[in-house]
Amino acid sequence: MRTLVTCLLAGVVLSLPGNPAAAQATLASRGLDRALFPRLVPLVDGVYAWEAVRDGDGVTTNSLIVITPDGVVVVDPQGTPENARRLLSAVARLTAQPVRTVVIGTPAREHVGGLGAFPAGVQVIATDVADEVLRREPIPGPDGTPVRAGEVLTLAVDDVRVITRGGVRLEVRRLGRARTGGGDLVVALPEQGVLYLSDTYLHGLFPWPPGGYPTEWIEAVRTAEGMPARWVVPGHGFVDDEATLRRDLTRFRLAMERARAEGSRLYRAGVPIEQAAAMADFGEFADWPMRAEMATGYLRRVYEALNGTLKVTVGEEFK
Ligand SMILES: [Zn+2]
Repeated sequence: MRTLVTCLLAGVVLSLPGNPAAAQATLASRGLDRALFPRLVPLVDGVYAWEAVRDGDGVTTNSLIVITPDGVVVVDPQGTPENARRLLSAVARLTAQPVRTVVIGTPAREHVGGLGAFPAGVQVIATDVADEVLRREPIPGPDGTPVRAGEVLTLAVDDVRVITRGGVRLEVRRLGRARTGGGDLVVALPEQGVLYLSDTYLHGLFPWPPGGYPTEWIEAVRTAEGMPARWVVPGHGFVDDEATLRRDLTRFRLAMERARAEGSRLYRAGVPIEQAAAMADFGEFADWPMRAEMATGYLRRVYEALNGTLKVTVGEEFK
């Protein structure tokens, strides 16, 4: 039955006109009711994605849930205490195991604002950048004291921090500066074939630039494309089937390559940044959700990279 439903849904999606990835990225474009969310998406045995919908734009913010015989690991604790509590309730319906570990994939408020709803004693694992963000913008924990990382990672690109919980191996990596100035982590479960990419992968969405690093982000996605996972899970956008997520990870890189090339062309043509978004030709990615809100900011980052003013910020991008 599930297969039949999946096929029917796939048929609906495939029949949508225009750019398929753009047509799939928001609730409205799929005709989905907000009441269906948040929801669990089973990936493999004991591993789930969690999709919650943001206020306003109908875009999902995702988390990864890994159930082990020695506690549950959550990657990205959601943006509000309410969303975090709903995630924790869903976990409690799946298992009697407590949530013992939280990994911060992206230290933006929309991913960490719910951290205070997690039980006291949860181990928080985050980059040094993410911990700095928690210091500057404190999130009160259950006892009122600000939550800080219990383990701070200062990983170089290509480093791997292996976390083993209940026999389940999680590999935490920093693929480079992508959406943030060093705060991005991805988590791979090699034995389960799952790779959770947090904001390094925005599924069917125009890249969000406030702290983005155009060239390094593209390279980070290229690295992710080469990693041997069946499931590549985005930080935003729907968690579709394995093949769609794989295909669209590459499409996301191609969208960024197109945007970077357009930024470069317009910069060299002397087009002021204020006019660049209106003059850019994003091709098949022109109607992707978030383009109107994000294109100027993305192109500004490309301009800054070209004129040598692209600064590495630590946490400033989340204000
Ligand atoms: Zn995000």
